[in-house]
Amino acid sequence: MFLTRSCRQLSSVSVPVALSRTFVPRRRMASDPSTEDITRLDFLVVGGGSGGLAGARRAAELGATTAVIESHKLGGTCVNVGCVPKKVMWNAAVHAEYLHDHSDYGFEVGQAHFSWETLKAKRDAYVSHLNRIYRNNLDKAKIQTIQGQARFTNDPEPTVEVNGKKYTAPHILIATGGYLQWAGLGITSDGFFELESLPKRSVVVGAGYIAVEMAGILSTLGSKTSLIIRQSGVLRNFDSLISANCTKELQNSGVDLWKCSQVTSVKKTDTGLELTIATRDLERKNDEEKISTIEQVDCLLWAIGRQPHTSGLNIGEIGIETDDRGHIIVDEFQNTSRRGIYAVGDVCGKALLTPVAIAAGRKLAHRLFEGKEDSKLDYSCIPLWSLATHQLEQLVSQKRKQLKQEEKRM
Ligand SMILES: Cc1cc2nc3c(=O)[nH]c(=O)nc-3n(C[C@H](O)[C@H](O)[C@H](O)COP(=O)(O)OP(=O)(O)OC[C@H]3O[C@@H](n4cnc5c(N)ncnc54)[C@H](O)[C@@H]3O)c2cc1C
Repeated sequence: MFLTRSCRQLSSVSVPVALSRTFVPRRRMASDPSTEDITRLDFLVVGGGSGGLAGARRAAELGATTAVIESHKLGGTCVNVGCVPKKVMWNAAVHAEYLHDHSDYGFEVGQAHFSWETLKAKRDAYVSHLNRIYRNNLDKAKIQTIQGQARFTNDPEPTVEVNGKKYTAPHILIATGGYLQWAGLGITSDGFFELESLPKRSVVVGAGYIAVEMAGILSTLGSKTSLIIRQSGVLRNFDSLISANCTKELQNSGVDLWKCSQVTSVKKTDTGLELTIATRDLERKNDEEKISTIEQVDCLLWAIGRQPHTSGLNIGEIGIETDDRGHIIVDEFQNTSRRGIYAVGDVCGKALLTPVAIAAGRKLAHRLFEGKEDSKLDYSCIPLWSLATHQLEQLVSQKRKQLKQEEKRM
Protein backbone atom coordinates (compact mmCIF):
# COMPACT_ATOMS: atom_id res chain seq x y z
CA MET A 1 0.00 0.00 0.00
CA PHE A 2 2.85 2.30 0.86
CA LEU A 3 4.49 1.76 -2.48
CA THR A 4 1.23 2.20 -4.31
CA ARG A 5 0.76 5.50 -2.54
CA SER A 6 4.30 6.58 -3.26
CA CYS A 7 3.99 5.72 -6.91
CA ARG A 8 0.73 7.59 -7.15
CA GLN A 9 2.57 10.66 -5.98
CA LEU A 10 4.71 10.48 -9.05
CA SER A 11 1.85 10.04 -11.47
CA SER A 12 2.33 13.58 -12.65
CA VAL A 13 5.76 12.73 -13.92
CA SER A 14 5.18 9.25 -15.30
CA VAL A 15 3.52 8.75 -18.65
CA PRO A 16 0.29 6.77 -18.39
CA VAL A 17 -0.42 6.67 -22.11
CA ALA A 18 -1.46 3.86 -24.40
CA LEU A 19 1.88 2.92 -25.85
CA SER A 20 2.30 2.92 -29.55
CA ARG A 21 4.26 -0.10 -30.77
CA THR A 22 4.69 1.35 -34.25
CA PHE A 23 7.29 3.90 -33.32
CA VAL A 24 10.21 1.59 -32.75
CA PRO A 25 11.95 -0.22 -35.53
CA ARG A 26 12.36 -3.77 -34.16
CA ARG A 27 15.84 -5.09 -34.48
CA ARG A 28 16.90 -8.68 -34.77
CA MET A 29 19.75 -10.40 -32.98
CA ALA A 30 22.73 -10.11 -35.29
CA SER A 31 24.03 -13.15 -37.10
CA ASP A 32 27.23 -11.51 -38.38
CA PRO A 33 29.88 -14.26 -38.01
CA SER A 34 32.52 -11.80 -36.78
CA THR A 35 30.37 -10.93 -33.78
CA GLU A 36 28.47 -14.18 -33.26
CA ASP A 37 29.86 -14.71 -29.78
CA ILE A 38 28.24 -11.43 -28.74
CA THR A 39 24.50 -11.29 -28.04
CA ARG A 40 23.05 -8.11 -29.51
CA LEU A 41 19.98 -6.42 -28.13
CA ASP A 42 18.26 -3.06 -28.38
CA PHE A 43 18.41 -2.44 -24.66
CA LEU A 44 20.65 -4.03 -22.05
CA VAL A 45 19.93 -3.35 -18.40
CA VAL A 46 22.47 -3.99 -15.65
CA GLY A 47 20.61 -4.44 -12.35
CA GLY A 48 17.18 -6.00 -11.84
CA GLY A 49 15.94 -3.65 -9.10
CA SER A 50 13.34 -0.89 -9.14
CA GLY A 51 14.87 1.31 -11.84
CA GLY A 52 16.26 -1.44 -14.06
CA LEU A 53 13.07 -3.51 -14.15
CA ALA A 54 10.86 -0.50 -14.76
CA GLY A 55 13.06 0.71 -17.64
CA ALA A 56 13.35 -2.78 -19.13
CA ARG A 57 9.63 -3.50 -19.03
CA ARG A 58 8.70 -0.16 -20.54
CA ALA A 59 11.31 -0.59 -23.28
CA ALA A 60 9.97 -4.07 -24.08
CA GLU A 61 6.42 -2.71 -24.22
CA LEU A 62 7.72 -0.22 -26.77
CA GLY A 63 9.15 -3.01 -28.89
CA ALA A 64 12.82 -3.14 -27.87
CA THR A 65 14.57 -6.50 -27.54
CA THR A 66 15.69 -6.30 -23.95
CA ALA A 67 17.71 -8.22 -21.38
CA VAL A 68 18.16 -7.66 -17.64
CA ILE A 69 21.31 -8.77 -15.83
CA GLU A 70 20.88 -9.41 -12.11
CA SER A 71 23.57 -10.76 -9.80
CA HIS A 72 21.34 -11.43 -6.82
CA LYS A 73 17.53 -11.46 -6.58
CA LEU A 74 15.05 -9.79 -8.93
CA GLY A 75 13.36 -6.80 -7.36
CA GLY A 76 16.58 -5.34 -5.95
CA THR A 77 16.82 -3.54 -2.63
CA CYS A 78 13.20 -2.47 -2.36
CA VAL A 79 11.68 -5.91 -2.73
CA ASN A 80 14.32 -7.98 -0.93
CA VAL A 81 15.85 -5.85 1.82
CA GLY A 82 14.12 -2.48 1.64
CA CYS A 83 10.63 -1.01 1.40
CA VAL A 84 8.68 -4.26 1.12
CA PRO A 85 10.01 -6.35 4.07
CA LYS A 86 10.31 -3.14 6.08
CA LYS A 87 6.64 -2.38 5.55
CA VAL A 88 5.78 -5.90 6.70
CA MET A 89 7.74 -5.29 9.91
CA TRP A 90 6.19 -1.89 10.32
CA ASN A 91 2.72 -3.44 9.98
CA ALA A 92 3.65 -5.92 12.70
CA ALA A 93 4.57 -2.99 14.95
CA VAL A 94 1.22 -1.35 14.21
CA HIS A 95 -0.52 -4.57 15.35
CA ALA A 96 1.50 -4.49 18.57
CA GLU A 97 0.47 -0.91 19.13
CA TYR A 98 -3.22 -1.68 18.60
CA LEU A 99 -3.06 -4.70 20.92
CA HIS A 100 -1.74 -2.42 23.59
CA ASP A 101 -4.84 -0.22 23.30
CA HIS A 102 -7.46 -2.95 22.75
CA SER A 103 -8.81 -3.05 26.30
CA ASP A 104 -9.28 0.74 26.33
CA TYR A 105 -11.63 0.28 23.39
CA GLY A 106 -13.57 -2.52 25.09
CA PHE A 107 -11.89 -5.53 23.51
CA GLU A 108 -10.86 -8.36 25.80
CA VAL A 109 -8.44 -10.43 23.77
CA GLY A 110 -6.52 -12.20 26.52
CA GLN A 111 -2.75 -12.62 26.55
CA ALA A 112 -1.30 -12.11 23.06
CA HIS A 113 1.86 -13.99 22.12
CA PHE A 114 4.16 -12.59 19.45
CA SER A 115 6.39 -14.90 17.40
CA TRP A 116 9.17 -13.17 15.48
CA GLU A 117 9.96 -16.53 13.91
CA THR A 118 6.46 -16.83 12.40
CA LEU A 119 6.57 -13.24 11.17
CA LYS A 120 9.98 -13.77 9.55
CA ALA A 121 8.92 -17.00 7.85
CA LYS A 122 5.79 -15.42 6.40
CA ARG A 123 7.65 -12.28 5.37
CA ASP A 124 10.38 -14.28 3.63
CA ALA A 125 7.74 -16.36 1.83
CA TYR A 126 6.02 -13.19 0.65
CA VAL A 127 9.30 -11.76 -0.68
CA SER A 128 10.07 -15.04 -2.51
CA HIS A 129 6.58 -14.90 -4.02
CA LEU A 130 7.34 -11.39 -5.30
CA ASN A 131 10.66 -12.60 -6.76
CA ARG A 132 8.73 -15.21 -8.76
CA ILE A 133 6.17 -12.63 -9.91
CA TYR A 134 8.98 -10.38 -11.14
CA ARG A 135 10.52 -13.29 -13.04
CA ASN A 136 7.16 -14.24 -14.60
CA ASN A 137 6.56 -10.66 -15.63
CA LEU A 138 9.92 -10.53 -17.40
CA ASP A 139 9.22 -13.83 -19.14
CA LYS A 140 5.78 -12.65 -20.22
CA ALA A 141 7.30 -9.46 -21.62
CA LYS A 142 9.90 -11.59 -23.48
CA ILE A 143 12.71 -9.92 -21.61
CA GLN A 144 15.76 -12.14 -21.25
CA THR A 145 16.89 -12.58 -17.64
CA ILE A 146 20.62 -13.11 -17.23
CA GLN A 147 21.71 -14.25 -13.79
CA GLY A 148 25.21 -13.13 -12.84
CA GLN A 149 27.61 -10.31 -12.12
CA ALA A 150 27.95 -7.83 -14.98
CA ARG A 151 31.21 -6.17 -15.92
CA PHE A 152 31.98 -3.82 -18.80
CA THR A 153 34.76 -5.08 -21.06
CA ASN A 154 37.32 -2.93 -22.83
CA ASP A 155 35.90 -3.72 -26.29
CA PRO A 156 35.60 -0.67 -28.58
CA GLU A 157 31.78 -0.80 -28.54
CA PRO A 158 30.18 -0.82 -25.08
CA THR A 159 30.00 -4.48 -24.10
CA VAL A 160 29.05 -6.25 -20.91
CA GLU A 161 30.34 -9.65 -19.86
CA VAL A 162 28.44 -12.03 -17.59
CA ASN A 163 29.65 -15.54 -16.76
CA GLY A 164 32.08 -15.42 -19.72
CA LYS A 165 29.38 -14.39 -22.23
CA LYS A 166 29.29 -11.01 -23.96
CA TYR A 167 26.27 -8.80 -24.55
CA THR A 168 25.98 -5.45 -26.29
CA ALA A 169 23.31 -2.94 -27.26
CA PRO A 170 23.18 0.60 -28.63
CA HIS A 171 21.54 1.52 -25.32
CA ILE A 172 22.86 0.17 -22.01
CA LEU A 173 21.33 1.16 -18.68
CA ILE A 174 23.22 0.91 -15.39
CA ALA A 175 20.79 0.53 -12.48
CA THR A 176 22.96 -1.23 -9.93
CA GLY A 177 21.67 0.62 -6.87
CA GLY A 178 23.73 0.87 -3.70
CA TYR A 179 24.85 -0.89 -0.58
CA LEU A 180 24.78 0.06 3.09
CA GLN A 181 27.75 1.43 4.94
CA TRP A 182 28.85 -0.69 7.83
CA ALA A 183 31.25 0.07 10.65
CA GLY A 184 32.75 -3.17 11.94
CA LEU A 185 30.81 -5.20 14.51
CA GLY A 186 27.03 -5.21 14.15
CA ILE A 187 24.67 -5.34 11.18
CA THR A 188 23.03 -3.09 8.61
CA SER A 189 19.35 -3.15 7.64
CA ASP A 190 20.18 -6.11 5.36
CA GLY A 191 21.13 -8.01 8.53
CA PHE A 192 17.98 -6.82 10.28
CA PHE A 193 15.94 -8.86 7.82
CA GLU A 194 18.02 -11.93 8.64
CA LEU A 195 17.51 -11.76 12.41
CA GLU A 196 16.05 -15.08 13.54
CA SER A 197 14.66 -13.76 16.82
CA LEU A 198 13.65 -10.47 18.41
CA PRO A 199 16.73 -8.89 20.00
CA LYS A 200 16.38 -8.11 23.71
CA ARG A 201 18.64 -5.04 23.58
CA SER A 202 19.07 -3.04 20.37
CA VAL A 203 21.09 0.00 19.45
CA VAL A 204 20.48 1.73 16.14
CA VAL A 205 23.01 4.27 14.86
CA GLY A 206 21.89 6.94 12.39
CA ALA A 207 19.36 9.74 12.00
CA GLY A 208 17.93 9.07 8.55
CA TYR A 209 14.56 7.53 7.83
CA ILE A 210 15.87 3.96 7.80
CA ALA A 211 17.41 4.36 11.28
CA VAL A 212 14.25 5.98 12.63
CA GLU A 213 12.00 3.31 11.18
CA MET A 214 14.15 0.42 12.38
CA ALA A 215 14.38 1.87 15.90
CA GLY A 216 10.60 2.40 16.01
CA ILE A 217 9.87 -1.14 14.81
CA LEU A 218 12.30 -2.82 17.24
CA SER A 219 11.09 -0.78 20.18
CA THR A 220 7.40 -1.33 19.50
CA LEU A 221 7.85 -5.08 19.06
CA GLY A 222 9.47 -5.26 22.50
CA SER A 223 13.22 -4.79 22.13
CA LYS A 224 14.75 -2.22 24.49
CA THR A 225 16.05 0.20 21.87
CA SER A 226 18.45 3.13 21.86
CA LEU A 227 18.97 5.40 18.88
CA ILE A 228 22.32 7.19 18.61
CA ILE A 229 22.33 10.39 16.57
CA ARG A 230 25.17 12.83 15.98
CA GLN A 231 23.09 15.99 16.04
CA SER A 232 20.11 17.08 18.09
CA GLY A 233 17.37 15.78 15.81
CA VAL A 234 16.47 12.98 13.41
CA LEU A 235 15.51 13.32 9.72
CA ARG A 236 17.55 16.46 9.32
CA ASN A 237 17.18 16.41 5.52
CA PHE A 238 13.43 16.64 5.86
CA ASP A 239 11.33 19.69 6.55
CA SER A 240 12.32 21.14 9.94
CA LEU A 241 8.79 20.67 11.33
CA ILE A 242 8.89 17.00 10.45
CA SER A 243 12.34 16.62 11.92
CA ALA A 244 11.35 18.27 15.20
CA ASN A 245 8.07 16.36 15.56
CA CYS A 246 9.59 12.99 14.77
CA THR A 247 12.40 13.57 17.24
CA LYS A 248 9.85 14.32 19.96
CA GLU A 249 7.55 11.49 18.96
CA LEU A 250 10.36 8.93 19.01
CA GLN A 251 11.15 9.80 22.60
CA ASN A 252 7.46 9.71 23.57
CA SER A 253 7.11 6.28 22.04
CA GLY A 254 9.81 4.79 24.26
CA VAL A 255 12.94 4.88 22.11
CA ASP A 256 15.95 5.87 24.22
CA LEU A 257 17.35 8.73 22.12
CA TRP A 258 21.02 9.71 22.50
CA LYS A 259 21.44 13.15 20.96
CA CYS A 260 24.80 14.68 19.98
CA SER A 261 26.38 11.27 20.44
CA GLN A 262 28.72 8.96 18.58
CA VAL A 263 29.75 5.35 19.03
CA THR A 264 33.50 5.49 19.59
CA SER A 265 34.17 1.79 20.14
CA VAL A 266 32.45 -1.56 20.09
CA LYS A 267 33.70 -4.53 22.08
CA LYS A 268 32.51 -8.13 21.96
CA THR A 269 31.90 -9.59 25.43
CA ASP A 270 30.40 -12.85 26.72
CA THR A 271 27.05 -11.14 27.22
CA GLY A 272 26.84 -9.29 23.91
CA LEU A 273 28.37 -6.12 22.48
CA GLU A 274 29.58 -3.30 24.67
CA LEU A 275 29.41 0.16 23.14
CA THR A 276 31.30 3.24 24.21
CA ILE A 277 29.41 6.43 23.43
CA ALA A 278 30.82 9.95 23.41
CA THR A 279 28.24 12.70 23.92
CA ARG A 280 28.87 16.38 23.46
CA ASP A 281 26.44 19.14 22.63
CA LEU A 282 28.10 20.85 19.67
CA GLU A 283 26.22 24.07 20.30
CA ARG A 284 27.55 24.37 23.86
CA LYS A 285 31.21 24.86 23.12
CA ASN A 286 32.28 24.78 26.78
CA ASP A 287 30.60 21.47 27.55
CA GLU A 288 32.87 18.53 28.34
CA GLU A 289 32.54 15.37 26.35
CA LYS A 290 30.70 12.70 28.33
CA ILE A 291 31.69 9.05 27.91
CA SER A 292 29.08 6.34 28.58
CA THR A 293 28.69 2.65 27.86
CA ILE A 294 25.77 0.53 26.74
CA GLU A 295 26.21 -3.14 27.62
CA GLN A 296 24.68 -6.46 26.63
CA VAL A 297 23.65 -5.29 23.18
CA ASP A 298 22.53 -8.18 21.00
CA CYS A 299 21.58 -6.07 17.97
CA LEU A 300 23.76 -3.16 16.86
CA LEU A 301 22.32 -1.78 13.65
CA TRP A 302 24.22 0.76 11.57
CA ALA A 303 22.03 2.94 9.35
CA ILE A 304 24.60 5.55 8.45
CA GLY A 305 24.27 5.91 4.72
CA ARG A 306 24.41 4.17 1.42
CA GLN A 307 27.16 3.88 -1.17
CA PRO A 308 26.75 3.39 -4.94
CA HIS A 309 27.20 -0.12 -6.29
CA THR A 310 29.81 0.40 -8.97
CA SER A 311 32.82 -1.58 -7.90
CA GLY A 312 33.63 -4.42 -10.26
CA LEU A 313 31.70 -2.84 -13.13
CA ASN A 314 34.89 -1.47 -14.72
CA ILE A 315 33.14 1.80 -15.54
CA GLY A 316 36.23 3.93 -14.98
CA GLU A 317 38.04 2.09 -17.77
CA ILE A 318 35.31 2.81 -20.30
CA GLY A 319 35.09 6.52 -19.59
CA ILE A 320 32.08 6.78 -17.30
CA GLU A 321 32.61 9.61 -14.85
CA THR A 322 31.72 9.36 -11.18
CA ASP A 323 31.65 11.95 -8.40
CA ASP A 324 33.92 11.83 -5.35
CA ARG A 325 31.57 9.38 -3.60
CA GLY A 326 31.47 7.07 -6.60
CA HIS A 327 28.00 7.99 -7.85
CA ILE A 328 27.63 7.88 -11.61
CA ILE A 329 27.35 11.39 -13.00
CA VAL A 330 24.39 11.79 -15.35
CA ASP A 331 22.79 14.73 -17.09
CA GLU A 332 19.08 15.56 -16.83
CA PHE A 333 18.31 12.83 -19.39
CA GLN A 334 20.21 10.14 -17.42
CA ASN A 335 23.04 10.15 -20.00
CA THR A 336 26.43 9.21 -18.55
CA SER A 337 29.64 10.63 -19.98
CA ARG A 338 29.84 7.63 -22.34
CA ARG A 339 27.49 7.81 -25.32
CA GLY A 340 24.84 5.08 -25.33
CA ILE A 341 25.24 4.31 -21.62
CA TYR A 342 22.73 5.64 -19.08
CA ALA A 343 22.22 5.35 -15.34
CA VAL A 344 19.17 5.64 -13.09
CA GLY A 345 18.31 5.11 -9.44
CA ASP A 346 20.44 4.95 -6.32
CA VAL A 347 23.67 4.54 -8.26
CA CYS A 348 23.28 8.20 -9.32
CA GLY A 349 22.94 9.30 -5.67
CA LYS A 350 19.94 11.57 -6.10
CA ALA A 351 16.62 11.07 -4.21
CA LEU A 352 17.27 7.47 -3.19
CA LEU A 353 13.70 6.23 -3.44
CA THR A 354 11.99 3.47 -5.37
CA PRO A 355 9.39 5.59 -7.19
CA VAL A 356 12.20 7.90 -8.33
CA ALA A 357 14.22 5.01 -9.80
CA ILE A 358 11.08 3.60 -11.46
CA ALA A 359 10.01 6.92 -12.95
CA ALA A 360 13.53 7.68 -14.24
CA GLY A 361 13.78 4.21 -15.86
CA ARG A 362 10.41 4.58 -17.58
CA LYS A 363 11.08 8.12 -18.75
CA LEU A 364 14.34 6.97 -20.28
CA ALA A 365 12.63 4.10 -22.13
CA HIS A 366 10.12 6.55 -23.64
CA ARG A 367 12.95 8.76 -24.82
CA LEU A 368 14.99 5.95 -26.33
CA PHE A 369 12.27 3.77 -27.82
CA GLU A 370 9.31 6.01 -28.45
CA GLY A 371 11.16 9.00 -29.82
CA LYS A 372 10.02 11.30 -27.01
CA GLU A 373 13.08 13.48 -27.00
CA ASP A 374 12.06 15.54 -23.99
CA SER A 375 11.17 12.59 -21.79
CA LYS A 376 13.00 13.03 -18.48
CA LEU A 377 12.26 12.93 -14.79
CA ASP A 378 11.77 16.27 -13.07
CA TYR A 379 13.85 15.95 -9.88
CA SER A 380 12.94 19.40 -8.62
CA CYS A 381 9.76 18.34 -6.86
CA ILE A 382 10.07 14.86 -5.39
CA PRO A 383 7.76 14.19 -2.45
CA LEU A 384 9.66 12.64 0.45
CA TRP A 385 7.71 9.92 2.21
CA SER A 386 8.46 8.50 5.55
CA LEU A 387 6.82 5.96 7.77
CA ALA A 388 9.11 7.29 10.49
CA THR A 389 8.12 5.91 13.89
CA HIS A 390 5.82 2.94 14.29
CA GLN A 391 2.94 5.35 14.50
CA LEU A 392 1.60 6.26 11.13
CA GLU A 393 3.32 9.34 9.93
CA GLN A 394 2.98 9.74 6.24
CA LEU A 395 4.73 12.90 5.58
CA VAL A 396 4.78 14.65 2.30
CA SER A 397 7.47 17.22 2.29
CA GLN A 398 8.90 19.48 -0.26
CA LYS A 399 12.08 20.54 1.33
CA ARG A 400 11.98 24.06 2.66
CA LYS A 401 15.40 24.73 1.29
CA GLN A 402 14.22 23.89 -2.20
CA LEU A 403 11.21 26.14 -1.84
CA LYS A 404 13.35 28.95 -0.54
CA GLN A 405 15.71 28.56 -3.48
CA GLU A 406 12.77 28.69 -5.85
CA GLU A 407 11.40 31.77 -4.13
CA LYS A 408 14.76 33.43 -4.59
CA ARG A 409 14.76 32.59 -8.29
CA MET A 410 11.28 34.11 -8.79
C1 LIG B 1 15.94 -0.60 4.59
C2 LIG B 1 15.51 0.20 3.40
C3 LIG B 1 14.23 0.71 3.36
C4 LIG B 1 13.82 1.44 2.27
N1 LIG B 1 12.54 1.94 2.27
C5 LIG B 1 12.10 2.66 1.21
C6 LIG B 1 10.78 3.15 1.18
O1 LIG B 1 10.01 2.95 2.12
N2 LIG B 1 10.38 3.84 0.09
C7 LIG B 1 11.22 4.08 -0.98
O2 LIG B 1 10.81 4.70 -1.94
N3 LIG B 1 12.49 3.63 -0.97
C8 LIG B 1 12.95 2.92 0.10
N4 LIG B 1 14.24 2.44 0.10
C9 LIG B 1 15.13 2.79 -1.02
C10 LIG B 1 14.87 1.90 -2.24
O3 LIG B 1 14.97 0.55 -1.88
C11 LIG B 1 15.88 2.25 -3.32
O4 LIG B 1 15.82 3.63 -3.57
C12 LIG B 1 15.58 1.53 -4.64
O5 LIG B 1 15.58 0.14 -4.45
C13 LIG B 1 16.62 1.92 -5.69
O6 LIG B 1 16.39 1.21 -6.87
P1 LIG B 1 17.59 0.95 -7.87
O7 LIG B 1 16.97 0.32 -9.08
O8 LIG B 1 18.40 2.15 -8.05
O9 LIG B 1 18.54 -0.11 -7.14
P2 LIG B 1 18.20 -1.52 -6.46
O10 LIG B 1 16.76 -1.72 -6.24
O11 LIG B 1 19.10 -1.64 -5.31
O12 LIG B 1 18.64 -2.56 -7.59
C14 LIG B 1 19.96 -2.72 -8.00
C15 LIG B 1 20.14 -4.15 -8.43
O13 LIG B 1 21.37 -4.25 -9.17
C16 LIG B 1 21.98 -5.48 -8.85
N5 LIG B 1 23.40 -5.35 -9.17
C17 LIG B 1 24.33 -4.55 -8.60
N6 LIG B 1 25.51 -4.67 -9.21
C18 LIG B 1 25.32 -5.57 -10.22
C19 LIG B 1 26.19 -6.12 -11.22
N7 LIG B 1 27.47 -5.75 -11.33
N8 LIG B 1 25.67 -7.02 -12.07
C20 LIG B 1 24.37 -7.40 -11.99
N9 LIG B 1 23.51 -6.91 -11.08
C21 LIG B 1 23.98 -6.00 -10.20
C22 LIG B 1 21.70 -5.66 -7.35
O14 LIG B 1 21.80 -7.00 -6.97
C23 LIG B 1 20.28 -5.12 -7.25
O15 LIG B 1 19.32 -6.14 -7.37
C24 LIG B 1 14.70 1.68 1.18
C25 LIG B 1 15.99 1.16 1.22
C26 LIG B 1 16.41 0.44 2.31
C27 LIG B 1 17.82 -0.10 2.34
